[in-house]
Amino acid sequence: MKIIMLGAPGAGKGTQAKMIADKYQIPHISTGDIFRANIKNGTELGKEAKTYMDKGLLVPDELTVKILLDRVAQADCANGYVLDGFPRTIPQAEVLDKALNELGDKIDYAINVDVPDENIINRMSGRRACLSCGATYHLVHIPPKTEGVCDTCGQALVLRDDDKPETVKNRLNVYHEQTQPLIEFYTAKGVLKTVDGTRDMKDVFASIVAILG
Ligand code: ADP
Ligand code: ADP
Ligand code: ZN
Repeated sequence: MKIIMLGAPGAGKGTQAKMIADKYQIPHISTGDIFRANIKNGTELGKEAKTYMDKGLLVPDELTVKILLDRVAQADCANGYVLDGFPRTIPQAEVLDKALNELGDKIDYAINVDVPDENIINRMSGRRACLSCGATYHLVHIPPKTEGVCDTCGQALVLRDDDKPETVKNRLNVYHEQTQPLIEFYTAKGVLKTVDGTRDMKDVFASIVAILG
């Protein structure tokens, strides 16, 4: 099963993608996590990506597409995957489509987690991330068991550099301009499913499971 998560920054794509990955035993692939791991390790890719990420801009397609295509070619992706944060532009979607086509394959579901902009700023200011394992929490809605500490790996939780309100506004604009057109793209392919992302995370997940079966 090959799944794409669509939705604004902070809509809950990552939260739901992790639950999907667990239940259906497929890898969760987040381009944002891959970039953040590179930043943490001080790689050239990380340095370049950070200049865009800190401004709330997208990393250029050429860089992003290569990383993603390399990742989905790995052995653990043979039975499918859930993509979180990719594609984010029409050219990215077209490259993925073409690569899958050449393998006689396709995306099965594009899940659009729908959350209005008004809710997003609150979600982002409360988000705390583990840069070690990629887990995400919310100060109010989804707190860790111990304040400031990742339940999964015990590392310290941080407010991401790009989750400050000024940057979040830029990211929302970028989302509407460059990513939202993908809703049309996957609707035309007959694979788009929209869920109401404003509800409790368990209820959102139940709607997704009802779609995936
Ligand atoms: P969120 O989950 O809050 O939307 P991500 O972790 O997916 O954030 O992405 C963080 C940042 O990483 C984005 O704002 C962008 O700069 C960069 N990024 C992640 N995925 C992509 C992508 N597919 N194309 C371009 N840039 C990306
Ligand atoms: P995305 O990957 O789309 O950027 P995340 O999954 O990181 O979004 O979620 C953004 C923030 O909102 C995080 O702090 C997360 O814990 C929280 N969150 C996720 N789903 C819900 C939900 N259904 N209700 C309330 N908060 C949520
Ligand atoms: Zn962790």
